[in-house]
Amino acid sequence: MYNKSLKELSASLHRKEISSVELSHYFLDRIARFDGELNSVITINTDAALKAAEQADKLIASGDSGLLTGIPLLHKDIFCTEGLRTSCGSNMLDNFIAPYTATAVRKLEQAGAVTLGKANMDEFAMGSSNETSFYGAVKNPWDLSTVPGGSSGGSAAAVAARLAPLASGTDTGGSIRQPAAFCGITGIKPTYGRVSRYGMIAFASSLDQGGAMAKSAEDAAIMLQAMSGFDEKDSTSTDKPVGDLLSDIDGSVKGLTIGLPKEFFGEDLDEEIRIKIEEAVEAFKSAGANVKEISLPNINLSVPAYYVVAPAECSANLSRFDGVRFGHRCDSPKDLEDLYKRSRGEGFGDEVKRRIMMGAYVLSAGYYDAYYKKAQQIRRLIKQDFVEAFKEVDVIASATAPSVAFAAGEKKDDPVSMYLSDIFTIGVNLAGLPGMSVPCGFVDDKPVGMQLIGHYFEEARLLNVAHQYQQLTDWHLAVPSGYEQEA
Ligand code: GLN
Repeated sequence: MYNKSLKELSASLHRKEISSVELSHYFLDRIARFDGELNSVITINTDAALKAAEQADKLIASGDSGLLTGIPLLHKDIFCTEGLRTSCGSNMLDNFIAPYTATAVRKLEQAGAVTLGKANMDEFAMGSSNETSFYGAVKNPWDLSTVPGGSSGGSAAAVAARLAPLASGTDTGGSIRQPAAFCGITGIKPTYGRVSRYGMIAFASSLDQGGAMAKSAEDAAIMLQAMSGFDEKDSTSTDKPVGDLLSDIDGSVKGLTIGLPKEFFGEDLDEEIRIKIEEAVEAFKSAGANVKEISLPNINLSVPAYYVVAPAECSANLSRFDGVRFGHRCDSPKDLEDLYKRSRGEGFGDEVKRRIMMGAYVLSAGYYDAYYKKAQQIRRLIKQDFVEAFKEVDVIASATAPSVAFAAGEKKDDPVSMYLSDIFTIGVNLAGLPGMSVPCGFVDDKPVGMQLIGHYFEEARLLNVAHQYQQLTDWHLAVPSGYEQEA
């Protein structure tokens, strides 16, 4: 049951072989059985989930149903859910129950999906290892001594261990793709503006984008389809039609040109991972795709530019957590300043504080031009490099991350080395392009992810290319050992 595709699960529901209530119980049982060691779920939504599942069963009986009707899933705890705690992985919001539901979640619920609970994450989505969560670190089901990646590490670990067929994620600099790679699942971050950010707690607004995490590209396509679309409540949401993400998924890759940026195959990349990516590229070639080396001359500036832009935006966004309006409030403040200082001091963890301080610094008078303005100029150059590259190629391929999952604790006290685990993903956010990660093998028994980057709004093409790769290979079907028993 746990390894069935979404289409298979939906067919079972529609043939009445299983009800959504039973399917929801099945995955809730798996969470109860396996999540003690993984820590991938922060809040479980049993009662409301079973109610929603009952409703879904009625829709299925009435024939008014679709592929997602009755399918259980998890949401990264950054998406606001009415009546269900939304913590953003932070002590600051440990007591926060949102008064409304994020558009992306609402759309999935309208499509009939059943929210089982909220997935663990790095605090305020800042991190690459899911070690900054107030609720404790998440473990990687492939090897419990390693990290699942971050910041959507709970979502990735849960899907990898088959605790839910789908999970939402958000990606500001790689937080869907990098944990997808580390956990051996498929994740897609669409073009900026494709998925509404309304009700998705803001980290860096010009970079944040919600997306889908699943076992396969086909499942991710079904999920993304339901999440996407214009939302008048998000001024950066695009009204460009989403189209049908499944209609071209079976198309051949014959004649397609895949670009390999030479900057992504340099010494930063682990040699064994390079070999896996080259094997995947060979698979595309054998299916008739062309391969071309390209250059993204400014891409090596993406991490420094990101670590100016993202903290700048985060320092502004997180100023709303002041102990007055919502979130953590310190005990018996002496005066207003004491209230701000202690509430924020107690509510935020170290990484969040570091980012807020960096952001306040780069935006301060005298440093704005030297840092923030410069970073925005570099961002423009990076975007232009991608646009130039897409004149020559249809899709860009690389490794998603320079290494496989690293050991827990290894980079925790070394922020720069942590930041560098996103060197291949961050440029995509700076440019606002769609990107995904698909499993393409193992190194030291740990999953390797291949990143695929598409031109603006070409999610359908990306998913098609990824799906075709998954028709040729079965890396995406591998289940970490210990999680194969039916619960
Ligand atoms: N790891 C990056 C950071 O810490 C990206 C996080 C993200 O995409 N949310 O900022």
